[in-house]
Amino acid sequence: MILNKNKTSVEGNSNDEGQPKSSNPLSIAVKDESLGHTISDYQRLIEIPGTELAIGSLVEVSDSGVCGDVYGVIRWIGIPPGISKNVLVGIELEDEPSLKNIPLSDGSYNGLRFFTCHQGRAIFVTSDRCKTDRRFTDKDSYHVGNKITNNQEINFGAVACPSISGSVPPLRIHSSDELQKICGKFKGIQGHHNSCYLDATLFSMFTFTSVFDSILYRSPGPKDIRNYRDVQKVLRDEIVNPLRKQLFVRSDSVMKLRELLDQLSSVSGLTCEEKDPEEFLNSLLSQIMRVEPFLKLSSGQDSYFYQLFVDKDEKLTLPTVQQLFEQSFHSSNIKLKEVPSCFIIQMPRFGKSYKMYPRILPSQVLDVTDIIENSPRQCFLCGKLAEYECNECFGSLQVGSGLECTAFCQQCLVTFHMHAKRNNHVPTKICIPKDFRIMADHMVVPRVYMELFSVVCIETSHYVAFVKSGSGPDAPWCFFDSMADRKGEQNGYNIPEMTCVPELTQWLSDEGARSINETSPNDKVLPDHAKRIFCDAYMCLYQSTDTMMYH
Ligand SMILES: [Zn+2]
Ligand SMILES: [Zn+2]
Repeated sequence: MILNKNKTSVEGNSNDEGQPKSSNPLSIAVKDESLGHTISDYQRLIEIPGTELAIGSLVEVSDSGVCGDVYGVIRWIGIPPGISKNVLVGIELEDEPSLKNIPLSDGSYNGLRFFTCHQGRAIFVTSDRCKTDRRFTDKDSYHVGNKITNNQEINFGAVACPSISGSVPPLRIHSSDELQKICGKFKGIQGHHNSCYLDATLFSMFTFTSVFDSILYRSPGPKDIRNYRDVQKVLRDEIVNPLRKQLFVRSDSVMKLRELLDQLSSVSGLTCEEKDPEEFLNSLLSQIMRVEPFLKLSSGQDSYFYQLFVDKDEKLTLPTVQQLFEQSFHSSNIKLKEVPSCFIIQMPRFGKSYKMYPRILPSQVLDVTDIIENSPRQCFLCGKLAEYECNECFGSLQVGSGLECTAFCQQCLVTFHMHAKRNNHVPTKICIPKDFRIMADHMVVPRVYMELFSVVCIETSHYVAFVKSGSGPDAPWCFFDSMADRKGEQNGYNIPEMTCVPELTQWLSDEGARSINETSPNDKVLPDHAKRIFCDAYMCLYQSTDTMMYH
């Protein structure tokens, strides 16, 4: 047993709480004097060969029957230098047990740092001592609940968060009263160690909408990574299902996902550092779950997000997302090949340090008709089916707005461009689908809308989210903060909170937004939630909806 032999050289293998070990990442480079190895001499693995256990797996370890079993999550797997058979496994324990045979540490082993956790919470054992945590495979769920409740009173607050398998639909809320009933403290996803970027994003993606649900259920294909199922299971059974069923996800469940993302993607620091939602989404959607990008651009590229890229227009005091969106698409001269299921739009700002507009109104409905390649449109002058598009006519008119006034029927195109100011324009033909052309004379050309369902906001590097709890213009909005409150100091925990914001629908309406913008020119006198949604919007999430009965 490599472990016990080197017991004396293991840093901080006692339960001495008074002397926390340094978590300085530089200690990675520190040489172990007795062995002369560095961490890079260890062959790193993702899974324990021949088992189902991998980074992020929940395991139990027997302490040779002396003190019974201990439980934890695998955070590191590797083969020590010079030894080919014994796979070493680093485990972060659920609580701080007193073990007779296994030294406890803070993620260091033999003087080298493999991961970081609280002192007294890490053990390193050979792989043959790890077994799947029986509490999560046994049907005896009462036992599970009991066990967890005992630990979490100290570490997470007295709310259990057992894993839930199967398929749980998103919540659908119809009235403010209904939303009010489910709101409160200890609701949503519990924040921990700078996780707000991830909590706010996950809450937006899964609580009240199914637009991302294919990620939870797609079977792995030959191109998927080996840990595909592990990540999917943690995301679905430990985060999304508990969120939807009990409206609470404890931070250790999220940490399992963070660990996996950190290990399996090129994005580092996901377990502890401050990150942005797009870094998390890139890691999860693109690198790990291989989700088909939502946006297919006419240029042939594809993407998960759309960054608004505009020149500042000094005349705009309260630009809407729709206005900026049209400006941005117009200036890039790019279109989308099809209507996306989900449109994630990043505001023209760079993190917390720079924002182009002090206030932006997130449009509740996004009209995407004009940015879809060859989508049937109306001539903006006469209303007939448009045959041509003239990009240079964008914004050249008093009437109409943005991209809408770039579409023309043949006759209006000619007439309109006889004007000296416009006769050098170069219009392009719109390729109308054949079937549509046949029907066009008998119907109004429909416009294509997407519905705003979430606004992720940032204020002094803390992310929070506004999420619509149902569909349609009257669905109430919920405000979510994974770190709304905190209990205890260093060893305490965060209290997440969901708040019903009945005024938000009014504030997001054209009328309401104008009124509040004019009556409160100073941000300091804006109501708190209004200030956040107008001044701090970072990312707006839109979903396509088949039932656009309003507008
Ligand atoms: Zn016309
Ligand atoms: Zn023109």
